[in-house]
Amino acid sequence: MIYTCYEMIRDCRADRAEGWRHFIACYVPVIRKFLARYQAGPPADASALERVLVSARQPQSTLFQSREPAPERWFVAELRQKVLEELPSSAPAAGLDLETVAAALEPLTLVEKQVAWLETMLYSPAETAVLLRMAPSTAEKIRGKAADLLRGKVDSWSRTMLAENGRELGRAAVTATGEECLPPKTFLDMVDGRTTWQGRDQLERHVTRCWHCIDHFCRLVEVVEVLRGNKPLSEAESAPFRERLGVAVDKRPVWKRWLAGRTG
Ligand SMILES: [Zn+2]
Repeated sequence: MIYTCYEMIRDCRADRAEGWRHFIACYVPVIRKFLARYQAGPPADASALERVLVSARQPQSTLFQSREPAPERWFVAELRQKVLEELPSSAPAAGLDLETVAAALEPLTLVEKQVAWLETMLYSPAETAVLLRMAPSTAEKIRGKAADLLRGKVDSWSRTMLAENGRELGRAAVTATGEECLPPKTFLDMVDGRTTWQGRDQLERHVTRCWHCIDHFCRLVEVVEVLRGNKPLSEAESAPFRERLGVAVDKRPVWKRWLAGRTG
């Protein structure tokens, strides 16, 4: 039975149980991965997960708005933002705004900017190296270069200031969208290695000076990694979440569910 993310989005939008069951089984593990990265404090805090699920279930939730034909990565990138919205952000020790970061890191190449930006997303140099397919020592070196550039631009510098101000910087980047900003497909083509050199050239010229797009690009790279080897919950593991969200148990045989998914 192939039930796609596209069908899930359609079914959740129409509040069909099938969609919610799929959402719980496939994306609770994804939400947990995001929480493990972005949640400060005790990792066992189940209430954040519950808040994300309950908020997704609200009729006014914007999570299920995409009408793109193959929207899974787009969807998971949105889901990540919803997870962050449910997490309290600690006040940064020393404020660092996006304009300062943009000015300081201006001399960096696109890839170097991605390395620096992934620090705001709490990725270590080793993890960054995996995401961007480079040697950990390269990621480390670029981090050092970015830190030096930043130190030259701020009054009170600290080595951890990008990470500490990550949430605020991320929020600022999301709102800093312009008319030339690129659609998710462009970035996904690049991630999948489908971009032509000409396309890549155009893309780089815009992206390298647009932190909205750098953030977007980094988030999609993150999504690809998060979805790699994602293991859905079993029926038993899903049950408490279905109960919490009031999703009906489907007693129909699988083939009937499949037919309903096709025609409904
Ligand atoms: Zn842009």
